[in-house]
Amino acid sequence: MSTLFLRTLREDPAEAEVPSHRLLVRAGYVRRAAPGGYTWLPLGKMVLDRVAAIVHEEMRAIGGQEVHFPALLPRDAYEKSGRWTAYGDDIFRLKDRRGAEYLLAPTHEELFTLLVQDLFGSYRDFPVILYQIQTKFRDEARPRAGLLRGREFLMKDAYSFDLTDDGLRESYAKHRVAYQRIFERLGLDFTIVSAQSGAMGGSGSEEFLAAAEVGEDTFVGCAVCSYAANTEAVTTPVPAPIDREHPGLEVHDTPETPTIASLVDLANARGLAGRTDWTAADTLKNVVVELSRPGVAEKELLVIGVPGDREVDLKRVEAQVHPAAVTMFEDFASRPDLVRGYIGPQKLDARYLVDPRVAAGSAWLTGANEAGKHATNVVSGRDFTPDGTIEAVEVRAGDPCPNCADGTLEIRRGIEIGHIFQLGRRFADAFGLDALGQDGKPVRITMGSYGVGVSRAVAAIAEQHCDERGLVWPKSVAPFDVQVIPAGKGAQLEIATELASTLVAAGLRVLLDDRPAKVSTGVRFADADLIGAPHSIVVGRGATDGVVELRVRATSERSEVPLSDVVGLLT
Ligand code: ATP
Ligand code: MG
Ligand code: MG
Ligand code: MG
Repeated sequence: MSTLFLRTLREDPAEAEVPSHRLLVRAGYVRRAAPGGYTWLPLGKMVLDRVAAIVHEEMRAIGGQEVHFPALLPRDAYEKSGRWTAYGDDIFRLKDRRGAEYLLAPTHEELFTLLVQDLFGSYRDFPVILYQIQTKFRDEARPRAGLLRGREFLMKDAYSFDLTDDGLRESYAKHRVAYQRIFERLGLDFTIVSAQSGAMGGSGSEEFLAAAEVGEDTFVGCAVCSYAANTEAVTTPVPAPIDREHPGLEVHDTPETPTIASLVDLANARGLAGRTDWTAADTLKNVVVELSRPGVAEKELLVIGVPGDREVDLKRVEAQVHPAAVTMFEDFASRPDLVRGYIGPQKLDARYLVDPRVAAGSAWLTGANEAGKHATNVVSGRDFTPDGTIEAVEVRAGDPCPNCADGTLEIRRGIEIGHIFQLGRRFADAFGLDALGQDGKPVRITMGSYGVGVSRAVAAIAEQHCDERGLVWPKSVAPFDVQVIPAGKGAQLEIATELASTLVAAGLRVLLDDRPAKVSTGVRFADADLIGAPHSIVVGRGATDGVVELRVRATSERSEVPLSDVVGLLT
């Protein structure tokens, strides 16, 4: 530790909103270098590499072969697949000195398809699984929570190429098993949920969500059976009109047309701390109410606008809100009949959701009365009657499980750590990827794509394995197996140094606190807890009599053990 490139911090960094971010910065694992860009310090790099090593092992176990593409790619391939346009503002685009257009790849389906087309051509070549662990770039609207949502991040992306639909299903199943093994080995508590395959096209798609309060994904799970689905997946694209007879709906009359103040009051009454910003409160135009829920770092934005009203300044809204809001505003402009309230965690019935593209967990509410004068919709969703009066409509979780007869749905939050897709022939069609079949006829290849957020996983692990004192790494990814801490001014450092060498010789990863004697024992203990190796050995007064203290970070257990037993206990 006397030479380690490390400075631990006593104070929480101001910009860190979630525990993993706070602790990874405080314990000296990462350091912010750019908006959504982080530098890996030595400790962090060790964890990242260990996570990556597990991913490599499990990918090799299903026959995955590693390749590595550039991140800087010419426009053509993405133009051909339609994603140059489809990605919109989400990709970084740039030009070279000759004016040729490039992008920094957000994901690599196009390139893998072209590579396979380049080298393989016969049915005998298939199936094949290729993968890489590579830096991806996405111009995320709201980079947040440190490694959890970066604009530059590390992803393992794998692609399967099969001749038949059955083959694809097999490749998909293999990845599913590999992912379960990866996330189990990483010590993550996770749920597999069915997901919407969205802009990717294709059919079967599942997400791996690590349970976490700070997660941006909201999903529903059955209290009884194993059914789980992303809320995005249980929405329908076009909502039916609100069915007032629907069980679970509570219709409340509100005494008067709500004002901004009353909306904020309502938000407060529901446990949301309110802050408002608006440009024309009197007409309720272009109003953004920013809400934060206690214990949830993510801000929730309540947008109130006037559908179809040209005065709604989309640019201004866009600057403050998720891009999906803008899409929604546009939809509302052309389809006033779609106007309905929506709030992610509270409204589960597909019929009442406005737009599946709205980010789960955001609170969006918008609407208009018949005259188009007021646009309001509040936290639980409101509907407007033709005469311009307003009723509050509440839909609660607990709706019956679609899978089993007994259960009801619960709302949970998670971090998307992995995602598997049966892409089908979308990319093969775009590029004409065929193999020559046994009968001499071309066979169109069918593909799967499979992603793991490698850097995000580091934060997800930290999120699930920490306490008020610091990080508590699972053994499989910890930067060190054991920290050796001399406590005392006598022979302790010498004994500790010798013990550390013995442990290293036994194959353990050891961090020896050989900092100068002026560093107090209290500081050493606090740093050890913050850094979070699974075990510490305290070499204290008893060491001269051959006794040291073994501390287990996760349980805070402490026991006196003979010095000679330490290696045996830790290996
Ligand atoms: P999200 O819904 O969180 O934006 P995504 O669905 O856009 O993620 P995919 O395209 O499925 O992400 O990418 C595969 C994996 O890459 C994700 O499951 C996630 O673990 C990781 N990932 C995606 N975006 C980011 C990011 N901005 N920062 C860190 N990891 C990310
Ligand atoms: Mg995304
Ligand atoms: Mg996602
Ligand atoms: Mg995804």
